[in-house]
Amino acid sequence: MKKLLLSTLLSSLAMAAMAEYPEKPITIVVPFAAGGPTDKVARDLADVLRQKIGQTVIVENVGGAGGTLGAAKVAKASPDGYTLLLHHIGMATSPALYRNMPYKTLEDFEYLGMVNEVPMTVVGRPSLPAANFAELQKWLEANKGKINLANAGLGAASHLCGLLFQQSMKIDMTTVPYKGTAPAMNDLLGGQVDIMCDQTTNTTGQIEAGKIKAYAVTTVKRLTTPTLAKLPTMDEAGIKGFNIAIWHGLYAPKGTPKPAVDKINTALRAALKDPEFIKREEALGAVVVTDNRLSPAEHKKFVEAEINKWGPVIKAAGQYAD
Ligand code: ASP
Repeated sequence: MKKLLLSTLLSSLAMAAMAEYPEKPITIVVPFAAGGPTDKVARDLADVLRQKIGQTVIVENVGGAGGTLGAAKVAKASPDGYTLLLHHIGMATSPALYRNMPYKTLEDFEYLGMVNEVPMTVVGRPSLPAANFAELQKWLEANKGKINLANAGLGAASHLCGLLFQQSMKIDMTTVPYKGTAPAMNDLLGGQVDIMCDQTTNTTGQIEAGKIKAYAVTTVKRLTTPTLAKLPTMDEAGIKGFNIAIWHGLYAPKGTPKPAVDKINTALRAALKDPEFIKREEALGAVVVTDNRLSPAEHKKFVEAEINKWGPVIKAAGQYAD
């Protein structure tokens, strides 16, 4: 009886505390380096979430191991609604890539809703002699064994896209992993690596400024953002059926109280309707999610479907890490 009273008291205290949620700053962990594509989405989102939820929202970068280090940090954080994770397709590809995952994707998180979808681009160092995709193909053929392909580690979007790219071109490249594609972009600009497959949120500005070579987009449809609209799709360029877009979603540690999950979900839905946020995303080629994947249950279903979609592709490629 005493035990029951105590647990009722504790749960009403927890409910009362949650009624005030959020009372202190919320941290969004980005599992990649600052200045990269996931970081950009997180910082733009934090700006608008701040207004919608009425509390400071901080972004913390925990890069490394293709996003699994940052995700593990959130899986193990206190489930109080103050530590969240913004992660991308790596949530679904890592389980197939890592033999020893530091968390369980479908069990260790509360799903809070999807955020956006972002196409990718195949880009090259400024000094690369190839001016278009056909010339790139010839250059790759001629330079077999000497090509450096940058990525953000096993489990990153750039890794997955690079993997599909190598398979489609039937050319093995030396992959150079970074903690995010922000540092990878620096080395691409400096000519230390040759090519990279990265999200438009990171490449659009550099393409517009003419600082890197851009060869193709990875979606089956051409993009509408003016600079990117000029780029052929991989499919048009002859790599039939090549289609990959990266999605981002928001997560909290498993056990985060329902009132906090609901408040974050409501704020997220409001944020994704914010015209300023939508405009910023569109300018970088990204599309804000408006469908039922905004609901935690549908978000989780989608991630599960993505695990089932990409798992066999990755296993067939024989890529693993411990
Ligand atoms: N999302 C990563 C980043 O922000 C890049 C990637 O996944 O390839 O750097």
